[in-house]
Amino acid sequence: MAKIFCIANQKGGVGKTTTTVNLAAGLAKIGQRVLMVDLDPQGNATMGSGVDKRSMALSVYDVLLESATVAEAAILADKCGYHVLGANRELAGAEVELVELERRDQRLKTALAAVDADYDFVLIDCPPSLSMLTLNGLCSAHGVIVPMQCEYFALEGLTDLVNTIKQVHANLNKDLQIIGLLRVMFDPRITLQQQVSDQLKAHFGDKVFNSVIPRNVRLAEAPSYGLPGVVFDPSARGSQAFVAFATEMVERIQSM
Ligand code: ADP
Ligand code: MG
Repeated sequence: MAKIFCIANQKGGVGKTTTTVNLAAGLAKIGQRVLMVDLDPQGNATMGSGVDKRSMALSVYDVLLESATVAEAAILADKCGYHVLGANRELAGAEVELVELERRDQRLKTALAAVDADYDFVLIDCPPSLSMLTLNGLCSAHGVIVPMQCEYFALEGLTDLVNTIKQVHANLNKDLQIIGLLRVMFDPRITLQQQVSDQLKAHFGDKVFNSVIPRNVRLAEAPSYGLPGVVFDPSARGSQAFVAFATEMVERIQSM
């Protein structure tokens, strides 16, 4: 049975896409079967996995509108070792089209049920908003992974996200929980980041992952080569941190 996780945070530019593609590549590297779902119309996770968003015959848009199955639309990102259910600008239209339809927030969940036996992990890269797309992600998932930078306003944004997850848990998806908070772009030399990190641990305890992703330029360079950092430069500090995080995730799901 596949474990399904959303990578979500209402803020943009916090490292959601970087986390999604590198966790996917890290999990693939340690032998897990992975499907990466791109729910952001920007298609950064698609391009960052080496799949050309402009030339895809089928995408997550077709799956949400039930004109294709996941098995039909998923593409193997061969250098990365995982499958991609891609996104492009067409997906922005789904937001409006879904409003008219029945079970509009359950479409992805229903579609993923058909490939449950084919993957160990499904990772969903969410857009930076609480849209119908994000809601489809949250309704499908067993848990949410929240990447965050240890900055002053990070904690404030977290309150909104925690409330949203509580509401979805209460009304739409009893399985949903926060799996953990992942500290990303971390620089231990910056005192404020250390302080925020300590506050996070005090507040959220073991919901804070042990793994910490450092700020690392190789992770930022990798997308322009159409690869996750883990594949582009496996020896980079950031890549090694993501492989360690993948191992931590495999351990976490054993106790779920
Ligand atoms: P989001 O998906 O939340 O908008 P991204 O993953 O696209 O965020 O990250 C935003 C920017 O930060 C990108 O340019 C990305 O390459 C860069 N970035 C993300 N994580 C790191 C990191 N650990 N070290 C250096 N740069 C990073
Ligand atoms: Mg993104």
